[in-house]
Amino acid sequence: MNRASRIFWPMLVKPKDAVIKQTEQLSRSQKLLTELGLIKSGSNGTYQIMPIAQRSLDKCINLVQQNMFEAGGQKITLPILTSTALWKKSGRLEGDISEFYMVRDRSGKQFLMSPTHEEAVTAMLATAAPISYRQLPLRLYQIGPKFRDELKSRFGMMRAKEFLMKDMYTFDLSQETAKETYDIITKAYNRFFQQLEVPFVKVNAETGIMGGSLSHEYHFISSVGEDTLVKCESCGYAGNAEVLHQSSNCPSCQKADNLSRVHGVEVAHTFLLGDKYSKPLGATFLNTSGKPQSLIMGCYGIGVSRVLAASLEVLSTDQELRWPKLLAPYDVCVIGPKQGSKEQTLAERVEYNLLEHLGHICGSDEVLHDDRKDLTIGKRLLDGKRLGHPFIIVAGAKSVLAEDPKLELHSSDGNKIELNLNEALQMVNQYVNHKKDLIDIRRSTKEEEQTNRKQKVGHTL
Ligand SMILES: [Zn+2]
Repeated sequence: MNRASRIFWPMLVKPKDAVIKQTEQLSRSQKLLTELGLIKSGSNGTYQIMPIAQRSLDKCINLVQQNMFEAGGQKITLPILTSTALWKKSGRLEGDISEFYMVRDRSGKQFLMSPTHEEAVTAMLATAAPISYRQLPLRLYQIGPKFRDELKSRFGMMRAKEFLMKDMYTFDLSQETAKETYDIITKAYNRFFQQLEVPFVKVNAETGIMGGSLSHEYHFISSVGEDTLVKCESCGYAGNAEVLHQSSNCPSCQKADNLSRVHGVEVAHTFLLGDKYSKPLGATFLNTSGKPQSLIMGCYGIGVSRVLAASLEVLSTDQELRWPKLLAPYDVCVIGPKQGSKEQTLAERVEYNLLEHLGHICGSDEVLHDDRKDLTIGKRLLDGKRLGHPFIIVAGAKSVLAEDPKLELHSSDGNKIELNLNEALQMVNQYVNHKKDLIDIRRSTKEEEQTNRKQKVGHTL
């Protein structure tokens, strides 16, 4: 059981006449997260994640891992420091390097605080024992911090200089099998974003600095999004506006003036890379006739901390956080009577009975007991609503009425209803079952198509 009185939760207390220096542009999720003590701003562009937000981030990590496991992924960890010598070999130090953090060790050797790991993982394979075609495909991923010295870090964790990323690198024996891998991983990405229930779009993208032949981006639609996405109303093509190259014609059907535009926050990116890295770094496998042949690569990123921040940005109101169900820090928050109130003794019996039942339904780790009994119910309810718990259940004066005792249930969609114990437990139970259904999403292609037709949320813009 989690007790609110024991949680480190450094809320920002603003004196009424305080003038707060705005050092960066805040988004509403960023503002709420900071004020509620869920994250703290570190040095410019970095963030300290406090316990309640950490729970949510850990849930996001777990969900990503489940989907990577489903797609045949094996988890590894590569060092944050990558020798710049490797990046010289791939040619990537020749472009704009102003966003890279570089460090030197005591002997003068230079390293990158890796913004991505194509070189590192490819060099690792190149120096491993000869890989047989029988071991392929190989799908290796990691979840760890990445570094980018952004000129303008903005909107908190949505664009930070240090961020958490899931990066997967795949190795296949041919373009054809690499394309099969690409389809499997993008399917896992679709499933992950469906599980979050945040409206998303998958669009065609430029391959840019990564190189390669095929690339897609996943975006949450948001007015603070820094990317412009276009959709061709004539042929249905959707892409990042950068694919237009200043043309006003659709890259697919070439028709002009039929492109609509929206803003998006990029939360994931996939690339089919071919041999762009394996060739210069010498990563090969032994083919059926025992001859070495270049591995065909793909790379697949999900900005894990950005997914969390951008989900909150899309779902929250100006006053209250709203979480994807699978990422909410707790399922339910319980508020009992205030210390010294006349109903205290009797209402506490109801409160503890409720806590016990909820523990069985959600698992006690998913229940937050707001035991700050020196605070009024109203004050604790206000905090709970701002935190955006899916459910808040109050055992107050009405819960001890001799006739028809009622609990007050507040759900994060803004509804408040009075219910008896069993009815309240039933609602929580339904919610828990919905979460289970989300985790079990295994839609057949046919069902997936139907869903796409029914709702605008989905795979095309
Ligand atoms: Zn078109």
